Amino acid sequence: MELAFFGIFGLLKIGKKGSKIYRIFYKQTYMQFEGVLRKMKTEMGSPIQYYLLFNNDFLNVNQVLNKELHIAFLKYQCLNCGLERPIFRQGFCRNCFYEIPSAGDWIMHPELSTAHLGKEDRDLDYEKKVQLQPHIVYLANSSNVKVGVTRKSQVPTRWIDQGAHEAIEIVEVPNRYLAGITEVALKEHVADKTNWRKMLTNKVDDEDLVAWRNQLRQYIPEEAASYFIESNKETEMEFPVLRYPEKVKSLNLEKTPEYRGKLMGIKGQYFLFEDNTVFNIRGSEGYYVSLNII
Ligand SMILES: [Zn+2]
Repeated sequence: MELAFFGIFGLLKIGKKGSKIYRIFYKQTYMQFEGVLRKMKTEMGSPIQYYLLFNNDFLNVNQVLNKELHIAFLKYQCLNCGLERPIFRQGFCRNCFYEIPSAGDWIMHPELSTAHLGKEDRDLDYEKKVQLQPHIVYLANSSNVKVGVTRKSQVPTRWIDQGAHEAIEIVEVPNRYLAGITEVALKEHVADKTNWRKMLTNKVDDEDLVAWRNQLRQYIPEEAASYFIESNKETEMEFPVLRYPEKVKSLNLEKTPEYRGKLMGIKGQYFLFEDNTVFNIRGSEGYYVSLNII
């Protein structure tokens, strides 16, 4: 109320419609955002903090829980070339997806990494920078226990993005290839996929990840066996959720370019709404939207 009053007062006193000051007050009063969607930035905490970043602006999404959001899809904007082209995968247009070094096959399949052999996929300098750094093979529990790979610098971000409520490291290896072959070996004995519907409805069990880790140790390939982390414990994640949906229906901006609903939680990279709609922010990268908090 105070903020609304201040906004209107500010408008009358200082702002001319269309001026920068007008826009600032308008934004403070009605909270309007516009820009291309990128996966939310996160900060570990109780609960985890989520930030939606736009060009000159950001929103701490936790602060708008229990509020009505209006989302409208305005156009495509490829995260690499910036052009208005249909998004193909990972926020990129088709051309960029097949050309840029950050979308090579080794991203999704770490075992295909070749920088440690000095062998180029798309851009050796880039691949050396990303692949030749410490990587973690971990177990995360978001709906079931699964194995995964991430750069060490992405712990615990990766776990938060997956909506895992608990996770633990298994090995820390010096490059992406070793992490990849370890994951390939371990997924013979443990899942490597998450059931996102279970994750979002919070139908999850607590598991003893230390026991899982010790059990899986015997299957780590010889090249990576010496990198086993001897002493380790689970990391727990607490997501900002007021109420979980009972079942989920996914919002697809191409089919439903406009949506309005009350935000009840954030888990993984999803918005959870009161009417059981879930919106995957990461899955909507490259979509240029307006976002109004009502
Ligand atoms: Zn592009």
